[in-house]
This record gives sequence, structure tokens and C-alpha cells, in this order.
Amino acid sequence: MTKNTEHHNPRSPEARKRRKRRIRNRRILLGVVLLLLLVLVIFLVLKLSSCHKVPGQTASHNSSEITTIEISTDHQLTSEDFVNGGFSATDLSFEDSIAKDDQGNYVPGTYTIDVMDADGNKHKVSVVVLAKQSAESSEPSVSQKHQVSIENGTTVVDGILISNKKHPLPADFNPGNDPLAEQKVQELIAAMQSHGLDVQNTTSGFRDYTYQEQLYNGYVEQYGVEEADKISARPGYSEHQTGLTHDLINTAGELITSEPEAAWIRENCADYGFIVRYPQDKEDVTGYSYEPWHLRYVGEEAAREIMSKGITLEEYLDVEGGDYA
Ligand SMILES: [Zn+2]
Repeated sequence: MTKNTEHHNPRSPEARKRRKRRIRNRRILLGVVLLLLLVLVIFLVLKLSSCHKVPGQTASHNSSEITTIEISTDHQLTSEDFVNGGFSATDLSFEDSIAKDDQGNYVPGTYTIDVMDADGNKHKVSVVVLAKQSAESSEPSVSQKHQVSIENGTTVVDGILISNKKHPLPADFNPGNDPLAEQKVQELIAAMQSHGLDVQNTTSGFRDYTYQEQLYNGYVEQYGVEEADKISARPGYSEHQTGLTHDLINTAGELITSEPEAAWIRENCADYGFIVRYPQDKEDVTGYSYEPWHLRYVGEEAAREIMSKGITLEEYLDVEGGDYA
């Protein structure tokens, strides 16, 4: 009742005072509401603008968290690696700044690379390439320790030509007897003869593909494939086709199997750069049973290590051997 009276009595001084107060209060309230609205609008604007800039802002924000990325040598860096780290980087020019080996794997080490984010801002990221390969990689260990090259269809590891039942030679690989191997085998024969051992000067050396083909096919006709494989290499698979191999023959014209000769050969062949290519109890590695007469020239350094350790060429070079694939 009173309130109503006051309301409808603006001319009363009391009422005028109250009215002024009310208006002031309303203005203050309006100011506060406007201020709150302003704060809200500023907040929304900021939020919207930050949504538009998410890539750049996220990257710079998180850059300290991903300054280091660890990868294995066989990993292939993609922008994904950086997305996971907080960047949406798409510039892959960093690829060039990490060294790669012949196999296309990264060379272990720490590299600092520039990663571009979506706003074009550069960020320094250090990439650590760990020496260990990831478990999913089935790369043979050969590529890690040895230099493998394919030359005219032949496999050459650390400069040594490979010929076994897993690594055939092409039909047109026809080098003839290697002059150095031939000279060295004659020196070895002369030394054997000077020790009174039974060996003739003529060896069974180079055999070309066509000769091996005739030899093998002859055995197959006579005995069948299974037997033929036991006594003869298939064409392209004989080590004699390398021109680096010599079978030693005694004066009776037989392959040397007698012990004084065989023992001397085992102990001294490395001095002439030769190895006994098919040693005892290594058939699962070489693909052949013991052949005391069959010498392969690999050079003195390799020969000394192979013969002194009692290993095979396959084991020395980490090359796959054994039976036919
Ligand atoms: Zn032979």
C-alpha cells in the first residue's frame, strides 16, 4: 500500500529522492550486467579465434613436450609422427636433413630439424635415431654388418663373390679362371710337392654354365634328380663357375681325400688366400658335405679368419646357405 502510494506520488520530495536512488541502482546494475556481457563476449571471441588457430597454437603450446622424438633406423618419418606430438606439420622437407644409408635406413644419431606447423611457423625438433632396429623389421642382419651389392646378377658381399645353393650365378656369367687364384693355387701345389705330398699340377678349375648343365643333366638322366643333386651342382650353382675355385687332384687322377694331404691343405691354404669351402659337419650351412679337395680363393685376410675360426664363408659374411631354395 505504502509502496504504491510512493510510486504514484512523484512530487513528494521523499519519493523523488527514492526514485533517484532507484535509477542510480538500476544504472549500476545495468553497468554490472553490461560488464559481465562484455566479459562473456570477449571470452567467446577469444575461444572462437583460438579454434581457428588450433594447429599453430597447439604446436607452439606443446612444442616443449615434443622437442625430442625417438625413432628406429628403419622407421620412416611422416607428418603423423609430429601430429602425435602436437604438430599438424605437413612440411616433409625435414626428410633431407636426416642421413640415410645405402639400404634407405636412417643413420643412428641426433638430428635437429625444422618442422613447419599449419601457420607456417618453424619449430625445432630433435630427432634421435636409435641404433637398434624395431622388432617388426625382418631385414637380414647382413645389411647391418656387410656391404652387399648385386653385380650383373651375382651377389657380392664385402667384395667377395657368393656362389651357393641360395645364390646362383647367371648363365652368361663366364669369367674363366681368375689369374690370381690360378697363380696362388700353383704356389700352393708347389709347396705341397716340396713337402712330399701327392698332388698333380693340373687342377679342376673353371667350369662354364653350359658344361655344368651337360654334367648335371647327364646325372639326372642316369640317376634321377634326387641322386643327381647329391653328386653334382645344378647349372648356375657350381662354385667352379666363379673361376675362383680349384679341385686338387692326386697323381692317380683322383680328387684328394687322403689325410696327410687334406690336413696340410686345411692348415696352410689360408697362406695362399684359399679356404676349404665345404668343411666337415657344415653341410647345413654350405649345402655340401665335406670336400677336402675343393678350394675357394677369397684373399688372405678373409681366408685366415675363416680357417682359424673354423667357420664357413656363409658364416663369415652372414650369407644364407644350405640347400636349394
Ligand atoms: Zn669342386
